[in-house]
Amino acid sequence: MQTKTPVAVLGGTGLVGQRLVQLLANHPWFEIREIGASERSAGKSYRDAVAWKLPTPLPAAAAQLTVKPVDPGQITAPVVFSALDAAVADVVEVLFAQDGRAVISNARSHRMAADVPLLVPEINASHLGVLAAQRQRQGGNGFIVTNPNCSVIGLCLALAPLVRERRLQRMVVTTLQAASGAGYPGVPALDLIDNVIPFIGGEEEKLEIEPQKIFGTVRDGRIEAVELLVSAHVHRVPVSDGHTLAVSAAFDRAVTPEQAESWMREFRAEPQSRSLPSAPDPAIVVLNEPDRPQPRLDRMAGGGMAVVVSKLRVCPVLGLKFEVLSHNTVRGAAGGTILIAELLKAEGLLP
Ligand code: NAP
Repeated sequence: MQTKTPVAVLGGTGLVGQRLVQLLANHPWFEIREIGASERSAGKSYRDAVAWKLPTPLPAAAAQLTVKPVDPGQITAPVVFSALDAAVADVVEVLFAQDGRAVISNARSHRMAADVPLLVPEINASHLGVLAAQRQRQGGNGFIVTNPNCSVIGLCLALAPLVRERRLQRMVVTTLQAASGAGYPGVPALDLIDNVIPFIGGEEEKLEIEPQKIFGTVRDGRIEAVELLVSAHVHRVPVSDGHTLAVSAAFDRAVTPEQAESWMREFRAEPQSRSLPSAPDPAIVVLNEPDRPQPRLDRMAGGGMAVVVSKLRVCPVLGLKFEVLSHNTVRGAAGGTILIAELLKAEGLLP
């Protein structure tokens, strides 16, 4: 039997870190050897440090690990999943990369650097082509690859089959985002119960700039963004997991709802053709019921790795409109970074 690649989870006590611990527990290629978190947690067993919020039992192998500080001198795994707060990830992820580690990050810190892939493996696997330039800039053999914002992943994955056929020009997206998107403990219950909050710091900006990079192309070791206008409205809603998006989009040539449905249903990409362990197949689940998708019913489609699309119809303003749902801590975070790591391993970029 092949030995598994040892990995570390930085920010392992947070909501995304817990998902990583859950999803990596029986992974065929990776094995968690180390968990890092803040000084509040370091030195404790993971069982004592974490406030475990998932409905499956805390994995026994992870429970007995001693949490370490997020220091490349103390964490030795060659592959590092980062679920750190951006304020910490800014510096710490660079230190790990400079120390020769492969860093796969959920944080926003390095997403927009031109030589850092902002990866959705079904869309822009070719962006890994910038890693040589990144290594040269940072020095050493390590690198950083990032996962897009949790709403942006669902949005772009739903659009990917349409972008293969048409040039996407403009879109308006309105999000209804789950409480777990704010981490733990997140938004106070008394602010969120019986309420909708039309503000999530920095989120509209991410929706308005990340898609251009994801659909961009590599030139001379840099990712060049495509031209695309996006207007975003974001809302925090009292849902535990699963971000819903209402999307209206304009293309250079008309797309009928029937065409969009058939392109989405037929959509297969590299993770599916290479049978990566976490790849959902199909990646896009199209529903025809007019009252779907619903977070409670649909967020675990494809093990939480598929996006669910419904209500494909004509938009009288922009041309085409539809609803998207994706699981923010699975596809939008932990599961998304694991799929990236699987792609890196399949490409020979991980030990
Ligand atoms: P969270 O629940 O607040 O967890 C934050 C983690 O960072 C904890 O493990 C915490 O450790 C650690 N941390 C905080 N300050 C630290 C420090 N000074 N040094 C070392 N570790 C420190 O947040 P989350 O929701 O899991 O999000 C983690 C990252 O993923 C963020 O960058 C977030 O933007 C991104 N993200 C989140 C989602 C989502 O749906 N939640 C989706 C996509 C991306 P302690 O427990 O020891 O404090």
